[in-house]
Amino acid sequence: MEEITIEKLPGVGPATAEKLRDAGYSDVMSIAVASPKELGDAADIGESTASKIIIAARKAADVGQFETGDVIFERRMKLGHLTSGSKSLDELLGGGFETQSITELFGEFGSGKTQIAHQLCVNVQLPVEKGGLDGDASYIDTENTFRPERIKQMAEHLGLDASETLKRIHVARAYNSNHQMLLVEKVKELSKEIPARLLIIDSLTAHFRAEYVGRGALADRQQKLNKHMHDLLRWGDLNDGVICVTNQVSAKPDALFGDPTRPIGGHIVGHTATFRIYLRKSKGEKRIARLIDSPHLPEGEAVFSITREGVRD
Ligand code: ADP
Ligand code: MG
Repeated sequence: MEEITIEKLPGVGPATAEKLRDAGYSDVMSIAVASPKELGDAADIGESTASKIIIAARKAADVGQFETGDVIFERRMKLGHLTSGSKSLDELLGGGFETQSITELFGEFGSGKTQIAHQLCVNVQLPVEKGGLDGDASYIDTENTFRPERIKQMAEHLGLDASETLKRIHVARAYNSNHQMLLVEKVKELSKEIPARLLIIDSLTAHFRAEYVGRGALADRQQKLNKHMHDLLRWGDLNDGVICVTNQVSAKPDALFGDPTRPIGGHIVGHTATFRIYLRKSKGEKRIARLIDSPHLPEGEAVFSITREGVRD
């Protein structure tokens, strides 16, 4: 798939393009699915001009056409699946972490989000017949919890060369939410040079939660998160890649978000993430994963373990 820049659309000059980008409309697809009012407000243009831009974007992005179910089915059959290392967790997800989707892992501290993220970085390098995607991983680390030592352990247990494995994991620290979003652009650039098939954001929400405090900041935060999630999906489409994001929930009730088992980011993250997995601790190394709100899989639970070797049944 080729990316057309938004300046190519009739009616979008450099000034309008800049305003649109600032508001999160960074690609043609995001404009194609916008409403004239939203777009007009974002770029300080009239609704009729906005309508014309949207129509052009729909043509360019080839959206808004009907297609038959069998065509969609065929496209879905081509999606890749990445193993987690646990059969039961893979089964819960319909065969593993799906490409071109965002899978959100949410749960409290120590529930295993970062461990699964590390395991995916190793597994993605495996050949397809072993549950991998024969590709590289990118890891956007917001909490400074990426540990090469842990990758080495996991790689060795799979019989992989540990230092070769580490060379195929591209890690960047994100210092704030703005930087985090910028790093997705860097990943897009990098992905032109490497066989990138996995993108981890650990954690998706921590910076946003720290920076946008209080009810007054909620709308702004949701809009930024929305743009961020769409950027991630865009990367997934372009690279047929798996996107895995983490989201911490606290064990204590939260004044803003109430129910502790509800992930932050509210409905924006929920509606954009295709798979949401709620993780909780059980006895010792055991963990329980629950699949929430899948469009095509039953709700259910899987039990797996986090051991020295990594994620296992
Ligand atoms: P979070 O959900 O906060 O990201 P983590 O994924 O970091 O949680 O999980 C941390 C847990 O993983 C630890 O409490 C421990 O149970 C387990 N763990 C981490 N490293 C190892 C290891 N080398 N061997 C066995 N278990 C480990
Ligand atoms: Mg973590």
